Amino acid sequence: MFFSSWTERLLRYYYLGRDKLLHFFGIKGRSAWISAPICVTEHMEREHPESCKRLEIIEKILRRSPIWVMLQKITAPEVSDVQLARVHSRKYLRFLECKTPVSGSLKIEEDTYLSANTLKSARYAAGAAIKAVDMVMKKQAKNAFCAIRPPGHHASDERASGFCFINNIAVAAMHAIAEYHLERVAILDFDLHHGDGTEKIFRDDNRVLFLSLFEYPLYPVMDLATYPECPNNTVRTPLKAGDGSNEFRDAIREQWLSRLDVFQPELILCSAGFDGHKNDPLGHLNLTEDDFEWLTKKVMLLANRYASGRIVSVLEGGYNPRTLAKSVKAHLSCLVKASPFY
Ligand SMILES: [Zn+2]
Repeated sequence: MFFSSWTERLLRYYYLGRDKLLHFFGIKGRSAWISAPICVTEHMEREHPESCKRLEIIEKILRRSPIWVMLQKITAPEVSDVQLARVHSRKYLRFLECKTPVSGSLKIEEDTYLSANTLKSARYAAGAAIKAVDMVMKKQAKNAFCAIRPPGHHASDERASGFCFINNIAVAAMHAIAEYHLERVAILDFDLHHGDGTEKIFRDDNRVLFLSLFEYPLYPVMDLATYPECPNNTVRTPLKAGDGSNEFRDAIREQWLSRLDVFQPELILCSAGFDGHKNDPLGHLNLTEDDFEWLTKKVMLLANRYASGRIVSVLEGGYNPRTLAKSVKAHLSCLVKASPFY
């Protein structure tokens, strides 16, 4: 523990009292950490990289950091059918329900397994993203991080793939548009893999600007020449194997920042994947925690300029649990500083 238990208790009471005071005066509260116990259960095959250790170790490392006490800890609700239906077809949701086994797991796509807990976990993961949007829109938090599994950005409206079943970030974006009448929502996807599901869901929907940085060639895009044409509301930013900080930062500066300045998002959503880290077993990029910290600071500047600081960050990939935890810590170490008097 980073503090003795009585110091931690005092700090917790201090933050809770201050939250109430800030909320009373209409000032945005601390960063929110939104998760659900079922998201930490195992629901893939044994030895599968998308394991519950990912969330367990993130929390374990954060609990040893002063960042932990600065976060509002929120338990995610389950997403409603109405909220899901804005993104996924009823036929697909019914398919997932029908295929869910009572025990064991069922392979439904390459490397993607459905077990008894999967759909329930996915419903709470999407519920976390909904709650995060509600909190930042209602000024209960300046920004929010959803510590959830399974990830979502490969799931399309009618297909599970790449460990993803429900597209959490798409559900969050549609909730912001439907419930808060936002006209411009930006999704920044910095996972190692292209967010093909998100791109398909929002293809040519000009209420959403989708920016996706990814290693290429790699799953799911093996050949951009035969891939569907890039939609006009999407920026695809491929990096090649071996690229590191310089290439990553140059690409963000050249391809993302000016486009975001033109778009002027009212809300920024992050598909926060950390599998581009040099220690991740699934990729070949050479990013470090410093790069995720650098990007988070850039995103915060943009959010302050156009979106009243509103950022919702939703966990996607990252498959070396210890490296993932350090990367999430670097990301959160910036986000918590957005709150007043952090
Ligand atoms: Zn990934």
